Amino acid sequence: MDSGAMEKQAIAVSVNGVRVSVVQGDITRQATDAIVNAANSSLMGGGGVDGAIHRAGGPVILEECRQIVSRQGRLPAGKAVITRGGNLKAGFVIHTVGPVWRGGNREEQKLLASAYRESLKVAAENGLESISFPSISTGAYGYPVTEAAKVAINAVVSFLREGVTSIKEVVFVLFDAATFQSYASGLGEAAGGSKES
Ligand code: ADP
Repeated sequence: MDSGAMEKQAIAVSVNGVRVSVVQGDITRQATDAIVNAANSSLMGGGGVDGAIHRAGGPVILEECRQIVSRQGRLPAGKAVITRGGNLKAGFVIHTVGPVWRGGNREEQKLLASAYRESLKVAAENGLESISFPSISTGAYGYPVTEAAKVAINAVVSFLREGVTSIKEVVFVLFDAATFQSYASGLGEAAGGSKES
């Protein structure tokens, strides 16, 4: 897989035969079958990783998002939909909506875990083999990174342990060093001795 230049890799583990890794880099450069977008419910683009994905992928993505919203309305937190990837190396973008952090008692954890699970489900339903995730909700939506990393990794690991799907590789692509460290530590703890590199 060509994951783009300037990428720092910390750790990769195997979960039920699926490679799960954590890298620091720009998710728009990932060559996995799909990249996941931390979108908002309007699916009309925004700042952060959402803006970067629409800029890199071009207008095809927004056009398909419009069609989805006109069919089914706004996308609630915890759900996911798929579009083509336009000019991206990834063939598809899976758009999910994380929760806005409101102190931790407003189902944030459940909704964040659901955003990861639903994205994986959509990938599997479409027969995709590899998927990259950003750190959903920890930018503009304010979810504390250390907790978000644990929720994200637990959600992915438990989904993968539940059964075999088309998915063979999951990559967490973290933009900044602090976020990268949180996910690297989280994966190290969750891996329980199955460290691969
Ligand atoms: P949210 O609204 O879900 O919080 P943001 O896009 O504001 O989403 O932030 C989520 C995370 O995505 C943050 O850690 C941010 O630094 C990161 N991010 C921003 N641009 C990129 C990119 N090109 N690749 C990977 N991660 C990115």
